[in-house]
Amino acid sequence: MTSADHLERVALIDPAAIRRNVETIAGYVRPAKVMVAVKADGYGHGAVTAARAAVQGGADWIGVAHLAEAFALRDAGIEAPLLAWLHTPASDFAEAVRRGVDIGISGWELEPVAEVAERMQTPVHVHFKIDTGLGRNGCTAAEWPGLMARAAQLQERGLISVVGIFTHFAVADEPDRRETDEQLEVFRWALQAAEEAGVRPALRHAANTPAALSRPDAHFDMVRVGVGVYGQSPFADRTPAELGLQPAMELRTRVAGVKTVPAGQGISYGLTHRVDRPTALGLIPMGYGDGVPRIAVDAPVRIGGRVYRSVGRVAMDQFVVDLEDPETAVQPGDEVVLFGGDSGLSAADWGAAAQTINYEIITRIGARVPRVVL
Ligand code: PLP
Repeated sequence: MTSADHLERVALIDPAAIRRNVETIAGYVRPAKVMVAVKADGYGHGAVTAARAAVQGGADWIGVAHLAEAFALRDAGIEAPLLAWLHTPASDFAEAVRRGVDIGISGWELEPVAEVAERMQTPVHVHFKIDTGLGRNGCTAAEWPGLMARAAQLQERGLISVVGIFTHFAVADEPDRRETDEQLEVFRWALQAAEEAGVRPALRHAANTPAALSRPDAHFDMVRVGVGVYGQSPFADRTPAELGLQPAMELRTRVAGVKTVPAGQGISYGLTHRVDRPTALGLIPMGYGDGVPRIAVDAPVRIGGRVYRSVGRVAMDQFVVDLEDPETAVQPGDEVVLFGGDSGLSAADWGAAAQTINYEIITRIGARVPRVVL
Protein backbone atom coordinates (compact mmCIF):
# COMPACT_ATOMS: atom_id res chain seq x y z
CA MET A 1 0.00 0.00 0.00
CA THR A 2 1.17 3.53 -0.71
CA SER A 3 -0.50 6.85 -0.08
CA ALA A 4 -1.20 6.82 -3.83
CA ASP A 5 -3.59 3.87 -3.81
CA HIS A 6 -6.67 6.09 -3.74
CA LEU A 7 -5.46 8.19 -6.68
CA GLU A 8 -6.85 7.57 -10.15
CA ARG A 9 -3.71 8.88 -11.84
CA VAL A 10 -0.33 9.19 -10.21
CA ALA A 11 3.37 9.49 -10.92
CA LEU A 12 5.16 7.73 -8.08
CA ILE A 13 8.54 9.31 -7.49
CA ASP A 14 11.26 7.33 -5.74
CA PRO A 15 13.87 9.64 -4.19
CA ALA A 16 15.90 6.63 -3.02
CA ALA A 17 16.34 5.68 -6.69
CA ILE A 18 17.52 9.22 -7.46
CA ARG A 19 19.97 9.05 -4.56
CA ARG A 20 21.32 5.70 -5.68
CA ASN A 21 21.59 6.82 -9.30
CA VAL A 22 23.67 9.82 -8.23
CA GLU A 23 25.90 7.49 -6.21
CA THR A 24 26.21 5.17 -9.20
CA ILE A 25 27.11 7.97 -11.59
CA ALA A 26 29.57 9.36 -9.04
CA GLY A 27 31.16 5.92 -9.07
CA TYR A 28 31.76 6.30 -12.81
CA VAL A 29 33.24 9.79 -12.59
CA ARG A 30 34.97 10.44 -9.24
CA PRO A 31 37.16 12.32 -8.50
CA ALA A 32 35.18 14.63 -10.81
CA LYS A 33 32.34 16.50 -9.11
CA VAL A 34 28.71 15.89 -10.04
CA MET A 35 26.22 18.57 -11.04
CA VAL A 36 22.67 17.25 -11.29
CA ALA A 37 20.31 18.90 -13.77
CA VAL A 38 16.87 19.46 -12.24
CA LYS A 39 15.54 21.79 -14.94
CA ALA A 40 12.03 21.33 -16.27
CA ASP A 41 10.78 20.39 -12.81
CA GLY A 42 13.41 17.74 -12.35
CA TYR A 43 12.64 16.16 -15.74
CA GLY A 44 9.06 15.84 -14.50
CA HIS A 45 9.92 14.31 -11.12
CA GLY A 46 9.62 17.54 -9.11
CA ALA A 47 12.62 19.84 -8.98
CA VAL A 48 12.76 20.14 -5.21
CA THR A 49 12.33 16.39 -4.67
CA ALA A 50 15.02 15.71 -7.23
CA ALA A 51 17.44 18.31 -5.89
CA ARG A 52 17.08 17.11 -2.29
CA ALA A 53 17.57 13.48 -3.25
CA ALA A 54 20.50 14.39 -5.50
CA VAL A 55 22.26 16.25 -2.70
CA GLN A 56 21.65 13.32 -0.35
CA GLY A 57 23.20 11.07 -3.00
CA GLY A 58 26.32 13.22 -3.06
CA ALA A 59 25.63 15.79 -5.80
CA ASP A 60 28.04 18.70 -5.45
CA TRP A 61 26.10 21.12 -7.64
CA ILE A 62 22.59 21.57 -9.01
CA GLY A 63 22.01 22.89 -12.53
CA VAL A 64 18.96 24.47 -14.15
CA ALA A 65 18.25 26.31 -17.37
CA HIS A 66 16.38 29.38 -16.06
CA LEU A 67 17.03 31.66 -13.13
CA ALA A 68 13.38 31.28 -12.09
CA GLU A 69 14.02 27.57 -11.61
CA ALA A 70 17.03 28.37 -9.43
CA PHE A 71 15.09 30.87 -7.32
CA ALA A 72 12.33 28.30 -6.72
CA LEU A 73 14.95 25.88 -5.42
CA ARG A 74 16.38 28.52 -3.08
CA ASP A 75 12.82 29.31 -1.91
CA ALA A 76 12.46 25.62 -1.04
CA GLY A 77 15.61 25.70 1.06
CA ILE A 78 18.06 24.07 -1.36
CA GLU A 79 21.44 25.47 -0.35
CA ALA A 80 23.71 23.57 -2.76
CA PRO A 81 25.77 25.53 -5.28
CA LEU A 82 23.49 26.37 -8.21
CA LEU A 83 24.13 27.22 -11.85
CA ALA A 84 21.56 28.57 -14.32
CA TRP A 85 22.69 28.74 -17.93
CA LEU A 86 19.95 30.08 -20.20
CA HIS A 87 19.04 33.76 -20.00
CA THR A 88 17.43 36.61 -21.85
CA PRO A 89 17.93 40.34 -21.35
CA ALA A 90 14.91 40.19 -19.02
CA SER A 91 16.76 37.84 -16.63
CA ASP A 92 17.26 39.24 -13.13
CA PHE A 93 21.01 38.91 -12.63
CA ALA A 94 20.96 41.06 -9.49
CA GLU A 95 18.55 38.64 -7.88
CA ALA A 96 20.85 35.78 -8.96
CA VAL A 97 23.67 37.46 -7.05
CA ARG A 98 21.47 38.01 -4.00
CA ARG A 99 20.36 34.36 -4.05
CA GLY A 100 23.83 32.95 -4.66
CA VAL A 101 23.09 31.53 -8.10
CA ASP A 102 26.00 31.25 -10.55
CA ILE A 103 25.32 32.59 -14.02
CA GLY A 104 26.16 30.79 -17.26
CA ILE A 105 27.51 33.22 -19.84
CA SER A 106 27.46 32.69 -23.59
CA GLY A 107 28.42 36.25 -24.59
CA TRP A 108 25.95 39.15 -24.34
CA GLU A 109 25.24 38.42 -20.66
CA LEU A 110 28.72 39.54 -19.61
CA GLU A 111 28.20 43.32 -19.79
CA PRO A 112 24.86 43.36 -17.91
CA VAL A 113 26.43 41.06 -15.33
CA ALA A 114 29.40 43.44 -14.98
CA GLU A 115 26.98 46.35 -14.46
CA VAL A 116 25.22 44.43 -11.71
CA ALA A 117 28.56 43.67 -10.09
CA GLU A 118 29.54 47.32 -10.22
CA ARG A 119 26.24 48.40 -8.73
CA MET A 120 26.27 45.76 -6.01
CA GLN A 121 29.98 46.10 -5.33
CA THR A 122 30.53 42.36 -5.44
CA PRO A 123 32.08 39.93 -7.91
CA VAL A 124 29.47 37.89 -9.78
CA HIS A 125 30.14 34.15 -10.02
CA VAL A 126 30.05 33.03 -13.64
CA HIS A 127 30.64 29.98 -15.83
CA PHE A 128 31.51 30.71 -19.45
CA LYS A 129 29.93 28.46 -22.05
CA ILE A 130 31.65 27.70 -25.33
CA ASP A 131 29.70 26.22 -28.22
CA THR A 132 32.09 23.50 -29.35
CA GLY A 133 29.74 22.11 -31.98
CA LEU A 134 26.18 21.75 -30.70
CA GLY A 135 25.12 24.95 -32.40
CA ARG A 136 22.90 26.13 -29.55
CA ASN A 137 23.76 28.54 -26.80
CA GLY A 138 27.39 29.15 -25.97
CA CYS A 139 30.00 31.48 -27.41
CA THR A 140 31.35 30.64 -30.86
CA ALA A 141 35.01 29.68 -31.16
CA ALA A 142 35.56 32.79 -33.28
CA GLU A 143 34.34 35.07 -30.47
CA TRP A 144 35.93 33.13 -27.62
CA PRO A 145 39.35 34.85 -27.45
CA GLY A 146 37.62 38.25 -27.35
CA LEU A 147 35.26 37.09 -24.62
CA MET A 148 38.15 35.73 -22.58
CA ALA A 149 40.11 38.98 -22.96
CA ARG A 150 37.12 40.90 -21.62
CA ALA A 151 36.62 38.33 -18.86
CA ALA A 152 40.23 38.82 -17.78
CA GLN A 153 39.68 42.61 -17.52
CA LEU A 154 36.51 42.22 -15.46
CA GLN A 155 38.20 39.63 -13.28
CA GLU A 156 41.08 42.02 -12.72
CA ARG A 157 38.61 44.73 -11.66
CA GLY A 158 36.96 42.33 -9.19
CA LEU A 159 33.64 42.36 -11.06
CA ILE A 160 33.50 38.67 -11.94
CA SER A 161 34.80 35.48 -10.41
CA VAL A 162 35.16 32.82 -13.10
CA VAL A 163 34.06 29.60 -11.42
CA GLY A 164 33.64 27.50 -14.53
CA ILE A 165 34.08 27.03 -18.24
CA PHE A 166 31.74 24.55 -19.88
CA THR A 167 30.33 23.09 -23.06
CA HIS A 168 27.60 20.64 -24.03
CA PHE A 169 27.75 17.62 -26.36
CA ALA A 170 25.54 16.97 -29.37
CA VAL A 171 25.92 13.23 -29.97
CA ALA A 172 27.40 11.69 -26.83
CA ASP A 173 24.46 9.27 -26.80
CA GLU A 174 25.93 7.74 -29.97
CA PRO A 175 29.39 6.75 -28.72
CA ASP A 176 30.70 5.75 -32.16
CA ARG A 177 30.31 9.21 -33.65
CA ARG A 178 33.44 11.24 -34.09
CA GLU A 179 31.84 14.65 -33.40
CA THR A 180 32.28 14.22 -29.65
CA ASP A 181 36.04 13.96 -30.19
CA GLU A 182 35.91 17.09 -32.31
CA GLN A 183 33.96 18.92 -29.61
CA LEU A 184 36.49 17.82 -27.00
CA GLU A 185 39.29 19.15 -29.14
CA VAL A 186 37.62 22.56 -29.42
CA PHE A 187 36.93 22.54 -25.67
CA ARG A 188 40.60 21.86 -24.87
CA TRP A 189 41.57 24.67 -27.20
CA ALA A 190 39.09 27.00 -25.48
CA LEU A 191 40.49 26.11 -22.05
CA GLN A 192 44.00 26.81 -23.31
CA ALA A 193 42.91 30.15 -24.79
CA ALA A 194 41.26 31.06 -21.46
CA GLU A 195 44.41 30.13 -19.58
CA GLU A 196 46.50 32.28 -21.89
CA ALA A 197 44.16 35.19 -21.23
CA GLY A 198 44.58 34.65 -17.49
CA VAL A 199 41.16 33.04 -16.91
CA ARG A 200 41.61 29.86 -14.84
CA PRO A 201 38.35 28.40 -13.56
CA ALA A 202 38.23 25.72 -10.87
CA LEU A 203 35.52 23.82 -12.73
CA ARG A 204 35.81 22.70 -16.33
CA HIS A 205 32.64 20.78 -17.19
CA ALA A 206 31.34 19.14 -20.33
CA ALA A 207 29.83 15.69 -19.85
CA ASN A 208 26.09 15.01 -19.86
CA THR A 209 24.86 11.55 -18.79
CA PRO A 210 25.99 9.65 -21.88
CA ALA A 211 29.46 11.19 -21.78
CA ALA A 212 29.70 10.69 -18.01
CA LEU A 213 28.97 6.99 -18.51
CA SER A 214 31.05 6.36 -21.61
CA ARG A 215 33.82 8.96 -21.93
CA PRO A 216 36.25 9.27 -19.01
CA ASP A 217 38.23 11.70 -21.16
CA ALA A 218 35.28 14.11 -20.96
CA HIS A 219 34.88 14.16 -17.17
CA PHE A 220 37.24 17.11 -16.47
CA ASP A 221 36.49 18.63 -13.03
CA MET A 222 32.73 18.05 -13.05
CA VAL A 223 29.98 16.31 -15.03
CA ARG A 224 26.46 17.71 -15.54
CA VAL A 225 24.01 14.85 -15.51
CA GLY A 226 20.26 14.70 -15.82
CA VAL A 227 18.55 11.77 -17.42
CA GLY A 228 20.69 9.10 -15.76
CA VAL A 229 19.90 10.54 -12.34
CA TYR A 230 16.25 9.82 -13.04
CA GLY A 231 17.17 6.24 -13.89
CA GLN A 232 16.78 6.53 -17.63
CA SER A 233 19.30 5.30 -20.15
CA PRO A 234 20.58 7.88 -22.62
CA PHE A 235 21.60 5.12 -25.03
CA ALA A 236 19.15 3.53 -27.48
CA ASP A 237 20.75 0.10 -27.06
CA ARG A 238 21.34 -0.06 -23.30
CA THR A 239 18.80 -0.45 -20.54
CA PRO A 240 19.01 1.44 -17.25
CA ALA A 241 19.70 -1.86 -15.46
CA GLU A 242 22.70 -2.52 -17.72
CA LEU A 243 24.09 0.86 -16.63
CA GLY A 244 23.32 0.25 -12.94
CA LEU A 245 20.49 2.81 -12.94
CA GLN A 246 16.98 2.52 -11.56
CA PRO A 247 14.00 4.47 -12.96
CA ALA A 248 12.66 6.91 -10.40
CA MET A 249 9.19 7.43 -11.86
CA GLU A 250 6.30 4.98 -12.14
CA LEU A 251 3.22 6.18 -14.00
CA ARG A 252 0.00 4.54 -12.89
CA THR A 253 -3.73 4.80 -13.35
CA ARG A 254 -6.77 2.53 -13.18
CA VAL A 255 -9.02 1.03 -15.83
CA ALA A 256 -11.98 3.38 -16.39
CA GLY A 257 -14.11 0.99 -18.43
CA VAL A 258 -14.21 -2.34 -20.26
CA LYS A 259 -16.46 -3.15 -23.19
CA THR A 260 -16.65 -5.43 -26.19
CA VAL A 261 -17.20 -3.94 -29.62
CA PRO A 262 -18.08 -5.72 -32.87
CA ALA A 263 -15.70 -6.31 -35.77
CA GLY A 264 -15.32 -3.18 -37.87
CA GLN A 265 -15.69 -0.72 -34.99
CA GLY A 266 -13.46 2.33 -35.38
CA ILE A 267 -11.52 3.53 -32.36
CA SER A 268 -11.07 7.13 -31.16
CA TYR A 269 -10.78 10.39 -33.11
CA GLY A 270 -10.09 10.02 -36.79
CA LEU A 271 -11.08 6.34 -36.64
CA THR A 272 -7.46 5.57 -37.49
CA HIS A 273 -7.88 2.03 -36.19
CA ARG A 274 -10.70 -0.47 -36.82
CA VAL A 275 -10.91 -3.78 -34.99
CA ASP A 276 -11.05 -6.83 -37.25
CA ARG A 277 -12.88 -9.07 -34.76
CA PRO A 278 -15.17 -8.67 -31.79
CA THR A 279 -12.78 -7.00 -29.38
CA ALA A 280 -12.68 -6.26 -25.67
CA LEU A 281 -11.38 -2.75 -25.08
CA GLY A 282 -10.01 -1.22 -21.90
CA LEU A 283 -10.43 2.50 -21.36
CA ILE A 284 -7.38 4.17 -19.80
CA PRO A 285 -8.16 7.56 -18.22
CA MET A 286 -5.03 9.44 -19.25
CA GLY A 287 -4.35 11.42 -22.38
CA TYR A 288 -2.37 14.25 -23.82
CA GLY A 289 -3.84 16.49 -21.12
CA ASP A 290 -1.68 14.44 -18.78
CA GLY A 291 1.35 14.42 -21.08
CA VAL A 292 0.67 11.06 -22.71
CA PRO A 293 1.68 11.77 -26.33
CA ARG A 294 -1.20 11.98 -28.79
CA ILE A 295 1.00 10.50 -31.47
CA ALA A 296 1.65 7.26 -29.56
CA VAL A 297 0.50 4.11 -31.35
CA ASP A 298 0.76 0.52 -30.17
CA ALA A 299 1.96 1.83 -26.81
CA PRO A 300 2.20 -0.63 -23.93
CA VAL A 301 0.48 -0.75 -20.54
CA ARG A 302 0.58 -3.47 -17.91
CA ILE A 303 -2.68 -4.58 -16.32
CA GLY A 304 -2.81 -7.54 -13.95
CA GLY A 305 0.45 -9.10 -15.03
CA ARG A 306 -0.06 -8.74 -18.79
CA VAL A 307 0.99 -6.17 -21.33
CA TYR A 308 -1.65 -4.73 -23.63
CA ARG A 309 -1.25 -2.27 -26.51
CA SER A 310 -3.01 0.96 -27.29
CA VAL A 311 -5.24 1.22 -30.34
CA GLY A 312 -6.45 4.41 -32.03
CA ARG A 313 -5.42 7.92 -31.15
CA VAL A 314 -4.64 9.11 -27.65
CA ALA A 315 -7.21 11.81 -26.80
CA MET A 316 -6.96 14.60 -24.24
CA ASP A 317 -8.19 12.53 -21.29
CA GLN A 318 -8.21 8.93 -22.39
CA PHE A 319 -6.98 6.20 -24.67
CA VAL A 320 -8.01 2.66 -25.45
CA VAL A 321 -6.15 -0.65 -25.22
CA ASP A 322 -7.01 -3.90 -26.94
CA LEU A 323 -7.62 -6.45 -24.17
CA GLU A 324 -7.28 -9.23 -26.76
CA ASP A 325 -9.57 -11.79 -25.12
CA PRO A 326 -13.34 -11.10 -25.37
CA GLU A 327 -13.65 -13.02 -22.08
CA THR A 328 -11.03 -10.80 -20.44
CA ALA A 329 -10.85 -10.71 -16.67
CA VAL A 330 -9.80 -7.06 -16.72
CA GLN A 331 -12.27 -4.91 -14.85
CA PRO A 332 -12.86 -1.23 -14.15
CA GLY A 333 -10.60 -0.22 -11.28
CA ASP A 334 -7.76 -2.60 -12.12
CA GLU A 335 -4.36 -1.02 -11.77
CA VAL A 336 -2.68 0.10 -15.00
CA VAL A 337 1.02 0.86 -15.20
CA LEU A 338 2.26 2.78 -18.23
CA PHE A 339 5.92 2.54 -17.26
CA GLY A 340 8.26 2.12 -14.30
CA GLY A 341 8.01 0.16 -11.05
CA ASP A 342 7.84 -3.60 -11.56
CA SER A 343 5.98 -3.25 -14.85
CA GLY A 344 8.88 -4.20 -17.10
CA LEU A 345 7.80 -1.22 -19.21
CA SER A 346 9.93 1.85 -19.63
CA ALA A 347 9.63 5.47 -20.62
CA ALA A 348 11.85 4.43 -23.54
CA ASP A 349 9.12 1.98 -24.67
CA TRP A 350 6.68 4.89 -24.71
CA GLY A 351 9.27 6.99 -26.52
CA ALA A 352 9.52 4.32 -29.21
CA ALA A 353 5.72 4.25 -29.55
CA ALA A 354 5.57 8.05 -29.82
CA GLN A 355 8.56 8.78 -32.07
CA THR A 356 10.42 10.48 -29.27
CA ILE A 357 12.83 9.74 -26.44
CA ASN A 358 12.47 8.79 -22.79
CA TYR A 359 13.58 12.33 -21.82
CA GLU A 360 10.47 13.82 -23.37
CA ILE A 361 8.11 11.17 -22.01
CA ILE A 362 9.07 11.73 -18.36
CA THR A 363 9.49 15.49 -18.65
CA ARG A 364 6.08 16.08 -20.19
CA ILE A 365 3.98 14.20 -17.69
CA GLY A 366 1.58 17.00 -16.91
CA ALA A 367 0.57 18.97 -13.85
CA ARG A 368 -2.78 17.11 -13.80
CA VAL A 369 -0.97 13.98 -12.66
CA PRO A 370 -0.17 14.22 -8.94
CA ARG A 371 3.37 13.32 -7.97
CA VAL A 372 3.53 11.14 -4.91
CA VAL A 373 6.96 10.91 -3.35
CA LEU A 374 7.60 7.45 -1.91
N1 PLP B 1 23.93 20.26 -19.38
C1 PLP B 1 23.13 21.01 -20.14
C2 PLP B 1 23.59 22.36 -20.58
C3 PLP B 1 21.89 20.53 -20.53
O1 PLP B 1 21.07 21.29 -21.28
C4 PLP B 1 21.50 19.23 -20.10
C5 PLP B 1 20.22 18.66 -20.52
O2 PLP B 1 19.85 18.65 -21.65
C6 PLP B 1 22.36 18.47 -19.31
C7 PLP B 1 23.59 19.02 -18.96
C8 PLP B 1 22.02 17.08 -18.84
O3 PLP B 1 21.93 16.18 -19.92
P1 PLP B 1 21.50 14.66 -19.72
O4 PLP B 1 20.09 14.68 -19.25
O5 PLP B 1 21.66 14.03 -21.05
O6 PLP B 1 22.43 14.09 -18.69
